[in-house]
Amino acid sequence: MRKINKPEFSLENIFEDKKKYFRGKLNTDTEKDFLEGLLLQEELYFRYGEDKKLYNMKETSSDDCEIDLIEAYKYLYRKDIKQAYRSRLYDIGGDRCPVCDSSYGYGTCELDHILPKSKYHQLSIMPINLVKICKSCNRGKSDSVGDSKVGILSPYFNDYNTQCFTKLNIDIINDKVKIIVKIKSFDEVNISNLDINSYEKIKYNILQHRIIETLTNRAMSVYNSSIEDVICNICKDKISKKELILNLKSFQEERYEANYIDECFFRQKIIETILNSSNKEVLIENILIHINEKIEKNKIIKKQFYNDFNV
Ligand SMILES: [Zn+2]
Repeated sequence: MRKINKPEFSLENIFEDKKKYFRGKLNTDTEKDFLEGLLLQEELYFRYGEDKKLYNMKETSSDDCEIDLIEAYKYLYRKDIKQAYRSRLYDIGGDRCPVCDSSYGYGTCELDHILPKSKYHQLSIMPINLVKICKSCNRGKSDSVGDSKVGILSPYFNDYNTQCFTKLNIDIINDKVKIIVKIKSFDEVNISNLDINSYEKIKYNILQHRIIETLTNRAMSVYNSSIEDVICNICKDKISKKELILNLKSFQEERYEANYIDECFFRQKIIETILNSSNKEVLIENILIHINEKIEKNKIIKKQFYNDFNV
């Protein structure tokens, strides 16, 4: 989870901008109290956010609320308006998901209610409770917010490097290379000053967003497209075990400073894990068979292509 800038607008700005909207929904006698109540909630949210205690926010349902704030959320944060609240939140955090580091493709980011609107109705329209994250983190995320031992964290207040807390496991399953991303145990995490409580909190947040599944899919796709396929395209004829290892090592020579869990990071980690595995011989043997099969297939396809087009 990477810390990103906080929204530059607050509930107060929204109430000011949309006076008419709220007036139309609220009773004149209670309007002031209602809006002030929400502003107090926002103040509390900031305090708990800074203290890593967001789980302390009180749950409320729509029954306790004068207006339907989910409806208000849909109206205030609707997609079709440029320069409006949604796009102002979308401008924060750059082009990578602050939770899992995936870069956003077209239409792959969404607004997430950090504390879920299903349990915290009063926070439905609060900018500081809304963050742009990727679709898979948003959809994979559970509604639990934890407790004082392991509570929910927010990219507006918290920062940890997911790379340091995850590892790759490479195995052969059903004759195919299978890469699985796992969470490191406390003893495996190499961060000085990390205490067990902080470790448990971070682990909870990684599991809460189901990042492990997302990263496993990404690692597998990097292996297929950016390692296997590249070697197959470079090599015109079947290769030997020695050539395969040389090809794998050639990826390692790229200078890489790991900042994000991106394609390059996975490539380096996958090769490193294969070459240092206690199961290295079996892994290499299997990869070799698979790659040579692909090279042969490519040759047939190319030959067919040249025949068909008389090149
Ligand atoms: Zn994500």
